[in-house]
This record gives sequence, C-alpha cells and structure tokens, in this order.
Amino acid sequence: MPAHRDEEEDKPCRACSDFKSWAKLQNKSKVTTPNKLPSNQSKECPLDKDELGKSTWGFLHTMASYYPEKPTKSQSEDMTKFFNIFAQFYPCEPCALDFQDDIKKHPPKTKSRDELAKWLCERHNIVNVKLGKPVFDCSKVHERWKDGWLDGSCD
Ligand code: FAD
Repeated sequence: MPAHRDEEEDKPCRACSDFKSWAKLQNKSKVTTPNKLPSNQSKECPLDKDELGKSTWGFLHTMASYYPEKPTKSQSEDMTKFFNIFAQFYPCEPCALDFQDDIKKHPPKTKSRDELAKWLCERHNIVNVKLGKPVFDCSKVHERWKDGWLDGSCD
C-alpha cells in the first residue's frame, strides 16, 4: 500500500503507511531537511501501518481466544458491536474501509469462542491474501494465541 495522506490534517498518515513510504513523503514536505530520512526507529515513536497491524491482530486474536465458550446474549451482542465500532475507528483509513466492507459481507460470529476465533482468523486471512502473505491455518488459532504450540516451543 503506498503512503497515504491524512486528509484532515494534510500530512502523511503514519498509521496508514509503512515506515519507508511515510518517511519519503514526510521528507518531501520538510524543505529544511530535504535529504535526511528519519533514522532513529529505536525510540518510542508513533506506530506505522505494519507495527499497528501486528499489535492490533495480537490483541484481537488474543481477545477472541479468551472470549467465553458460552457467552451470554448480552456478551455476544457487545462483541458484535465492538467489531463494528472497531472497524469505524481503526486508524489506518484504507485498511478500515476494506475491513468495513469485509465485515458487512461476513458479520461477526459471536455465539462462542471457537466461532469468534475462526471468524476473525478468516478476516485476517482475507487481508493476508490481499497483501500476498501466507494464509494461516485457522485450526491452529488457539495454539497460536492462547495455548502455545503443541510441540512445547512456547512452554
Ligand atoms: P500480521 O499479519 O500482522 O500477523 C501477526 C501474526 O499473526 C503473524 O505473525 C501470525 O503468527 C499470526 N497470523 C497471521 N495470520 C493469521 C490469521 N489469519 N489468524 C490468526 N493469526 C494469524 N495492511 C495493509 O497493508 N493493507 C490493509 O488493507 C490492511 N488492513 C488491515 C486491517 C486490519 C483490521 C488490521 C488489524 C491490519 C491491517 N493491515 C493492513 C496490516 C496487516 O494485516 C499486517 O498487520 C501488517 O502488514 C504486518 O504484517 P506481519 O507480517 O507483521 O503479520
């Protein structure tokens, strides 16, 4: 995805761009330091698109893997609301727009933990395919996000 501008603030959108594209775009608007790319990525800096994505998927999959096996009606309704609201406010706008379209076609499945974890895994796989990344085996979603791999490598 090419660097994206935050239209409201008229500046490059860091949460919508990978760091390199963002830095390039950022530099074009800084006439005082035209050739200098921001170099220190080890400081505590705002997240770029990929950092934001990785952290967010980590949170979402972990939440799904700890969701009740038998949620109450109200928990199920709240989780559906959560994803609809999340999709509106996810700070990478182009990512959010595609996610909104996807969950319109495939509304959240919130009747059980397994159902939610599988549904979310499938949503993530839609993004993986779009980005040319490997498709994840959704039968292993709780191993990845809750129990650790069966070979004991996380113990
Ligand atoms: P990530 O895709 O972030 O995955 C992190 C880890 O999750 C992987 O290491 C793997 O162990 C595990 N994993 C992978 N697939 C699955 C799965 N299906 N189910 C369970 N676990 C899995 N980026 C864009 O460039 N364009 C977009 O349109 C876009 N849309 C996004 C929409 C959302 C809602 C989110 C949260 C992120 C989006 N991103 C988008 C970011 C993108 O998905 C990645 O997070 C980012 O590219 C970093 O990728 P990564 O290789 O670090 O692994």
